[in-house]
Amino acid sequence: MIAPVRSHQKAKALKPTSRRPAKELCSECGLCDTYYVHYVKEACAFINQQIAELEQATHKRSRNLDNPDDWYFGVYQDMMAARKQQPIPGAQWTGIVSTIACEMLARGLVEGVVCVQNTKEDRFQPQPVLARTKEEVLAAKVNKPTLSPNLSVLEQVERSGMKRLLVIGVGCQIQALRAVQSKLGLEKLYVLGTPCVDNVTRAGLQKFLETTSRSPETVVHYEFMQDFQIHFKHEDGSEEKVPFFGLNTKVLKDVFAPSCLSCFDYVNSLADLVVGYMGAPFGWQWIVVRNQIGKEMLDLVREQLDIQPVMSKGDRRAAVQQSIPAYEKGVTLPMWAAKLMGLAIEKIGPKGLEYARFSIDSHFTRNYLYVKRHYPEKLESHVPEYAKRIVAQYKLPDS
Ligand code: FAD
Ligand code: SF4
Repeated sequence: MIAPVRSHQKAKALKPTSRRPAKELCSECGLCDTYYVHYVKEACAFINQQIAELEQATHKRSRNLDNPDDWYFGVYQDMMAARKQQPIPGAQWTGIVSTIACEMLARGLVEGVVCVQNTKEDRFQPQPVLARTKEEVLAAKVNKPTLSPNLSVLEQVERSGMKRLLVIGVGCQIQALRAVQSKLGLEKLYVLGTPCVDNVTRAGLQKFLETTSRSPETVVHYEFMQDFQIHFKHEDGSEEKVPFFGLNTKVLKDVFAPSCLSCFDYVNSLADLVVGYMGAPFGWQWIVVRNQIGKEMLDLVREQLDIQPVMSKGDRRAAVQQSIPAYEKGVTLPMWAAKLMGLAIEKIGPKGLEYARFSIDSHFTRNYLYVKRHYPEKLESHVPEYAKRIVAQYKLPDS
């Protein structure tokens, strides 16, 4: 059962507040910047973990706990690897997310799109918007790799009288959105999600860039890629690659936001359609169709895509088990060794869906230990059952 939320009229009366009841676990999803803050105790992903209940309400079933694919990828009807035949220049990958949003506006399926542009002064400072035109959607392309208060524009939606809406967002934003969805006065809501992990505040991002890139001020785009390297793109078009194993783990350990160190919704369980990359071969995007609404959204752009089935190769388990003590000790390899290790792992390491499982396992084991150590009283209720099963495959340190 989804926890009941109280009267919307009452919520309006409580409007302006800077409260963040999740305190240091707050991911700045934006709900608390609106009068929907009234629902926060039930809606916040970090106060009331209710993924199974919301899956049931959204997809008409929750994960089948006897099926390990469901533990990892959530409820889905279909999965594939895809890329745009004509990529959108400057998009994070090939721009499938922006293309779907533009099509939905163009065909009148929605009147507006919640997405996130950047501020004029800073390409990485998020500026959530309610986009009504193709141009406004395209201005939101590419990741703002920082916590972004996307839901802060929900009040504008209601004021505008919009009845058909698309929301683009990451897992914690979508969990809170689903919990208040019935209060928004909408006739139709479409949700286009991306996976998300290891997000940071703007200050944290600066520290990450300064610790990792040769030229932090010229980075326009970066991604943790399936070849076990971070690919930075710079203003002059040049590319820089830094192997994961060369990261300064000791310094970067506390860069990630506490919300992201306690998150178990990497794959955006509650979106209708998810577009990421980690379950796809290098260069391709990974599409997870969770329900019929997600299928309708994907169908709008199918003819603009090259599509291939998902594949899975290798065995991640030994690598994940070895990475647990290495992360705990903050092991950083010299760059030459990190490069060699990266090359070897790229040759023999997990690929496709097995790479996605590798990434999920590594993050869930780390996050489980984080919650156990910092919020032991939350461990039982905050970690979803599917995540407990994933973590139970590994031997973790006792304390
Ligand atoms: P584009 O067409 O470039 O559109 C990007 C969309 O993302 C825009 O509509 C914008 O509104 C939205 N957006 C940008 N920044 C944010 C933000 N901070 N919060 C919410 N929405 C935002 N995929 C994986 O497979 N594995 C990962 O580990 C992973 N980590 C991610 C971490 C973050 C912080 C984000 C934002 C995304 C992550 N993704 C991850 C998704 C992936 O990087 C691409 O965003 C996705 O594949 C879509 O690419 P595209 O070219 O279709 O998007
Ligand atoms: Fe509010 Fe969102 Fe922060 Fe939770 S994560 S406290 S809902 S702003």
